[in-house]
Amino acid sequence: MADIRTRFAPSPTGEPHVGNIRTALFAWLFARHNGGAFVLRIEDTDKAREMVGADEKIFQGLRWLGLDWDEGPDVGGDYGPYRQSMRLELYHKAAKQLVDDGYAYPCYCSSQRLDEMRQEQKRLKLPPGYDRHCRDLTDEERVQKDAEGVTPVIRLKVPLEGETRFNDIIRGEVSFQNNNMNDLVLLKSDGYPTYHLASVVDDHLMKITHVLRADEWISSTPCHILLYQALGYKPPLFAHLPMILGSDHSKLGKRHGAVSILDYREQGYLPEAMFNFLALLGWSLDDKTEVMSVDDIVKSFSLEKVGKTAAIFSQEKLKWMNGVYIRNLATDDFVDRVLPLLGEELPSCVERPISREYVAQIVPLIRERVKVLSEVPEFVEFFFVDELTYDTKILLGKKMDWDMVDVALRTALQVIRGLEIFDEGSLEQVLRPLAQEISLKVGQFFGVLRVATT
Ligand code: GLU
Repeated sequence: MADIRTRFAPSPTGEPHVGNIRTALFAWLFARHNGGAFVLRIEDTDKAREMVGADEKIFQGLRWLGLDWDEGPDVGGDYGPYRQSMRLELYHKAAKQLVDDGYAYPCYCSSQRLDEMRQEQKRLKLPPGYDRHCRDLTDEERVQKDAEGVTPVIRLKVPLEGETRFNDIIRGEVSFQNNNMNDLVLLKSDGYPTYHLASVVDDHLMKITHVLRADEWISSTPCHILLYQALGYKPPLFAHLPMILGSDHSKLGKRHGAVSILDYREQGYLPEAMFNFLALLGWSLDDKTEVMSVDDIVKSFSLEKVGKTAAIFSQEKLKWMNGVYIRNLATDDFVDRVLPLLGEELPSCVERPISREYVAQIVPLIRERVKVLSEVPEFVEFFFVDELTYDTKILLGKKMDWDMVDVALRTALQVIRGLEIFDEGSLEQVLRPLAQEISLKVGQFFGVLRVATT
């Protein structure tokens, strides 16, 4: 399996979605497992959907997880540039070759005509798709359109009969009837290629051996296969990764929680927990091993163990896993990670820099309860400030009223004042039986005391 090359090819159109990052992770894992190369390519050919700064966020998300790339827009490489907007000539050349060889054709239809066509198809309940109006224009008609100054798009001339097949590493043999395929646009009138042309040209020129990508692209793959054949390129191998759904089994979106990988970073998830969690979205070692180090995952990753069925993104499980990783951190490491957060979040009256030594003493007291690092400032604030602002209602435990709270506090105060030895054992000994005397459950009584003490 030498010379394996995979790529991650995001479109910079928004926040780095955890689903896309899972794709990147699998492509990275496959490359690293096989000692191959992992390429990062920015697919910025849709100017209308592009978002300024999105590529930088993608880089940050990948780096945070520890996914490094061997070639890419910032590091270069033998097959660059790695930004599609800088490779337009290559796509023009390919499009021209396809037209010259009869595999593609210029289409002069106006957007108005296409709109009308779509509406007509809707009205007649016909499947949507280009009606191939320009497919058989004569040379004279084309010359005339060019002379009128209409800039055409270039469309793929899909064969009208037969079928197109490919072998997907995950899905097995896949075949599509050609007559169900659309004469897709390859080159737009603004001179930019569509995703289809650009990704085929680039995957070929960048010598990509394995295309790992989201399941949603599987219906485009037959068109890509036709393009590979028409251009005389050998197609790479394909692996379409299972979808990721929310816990209610609908498409993973904002209503399920954060979708940007950077939001998870903000919320205090550890990158190693996120890495582990994402690796298990569609892949597993043996259906039972959950917590695995990066090295172990790299060592055991294989496409054979990637499932066909959708993976469920469970926020609960992610939280649990993060808690496991947090509990396993060495105290020093934990302190390193929370110190900057405390510096940012503790009230301004707390002296800066925050004392590392002090934090190291506090950490063991709260660590068991922490699931995400962003909880830590709130958990420890009372160790740092003298004036506490809090809602007195937290003194009111379940099924309690203010009289009961009053009695509980006064009685405890009295007893504690009379104690000669003030330690855990003696406190326990006097306080526990007291609960019954004042007609409270132990839990209610101790709850009040805990709030009051902290
Ligand atoms: N630019 C496409 C995307 O962001 C890439 C799909 C592919 O990997 O081929 O989804």
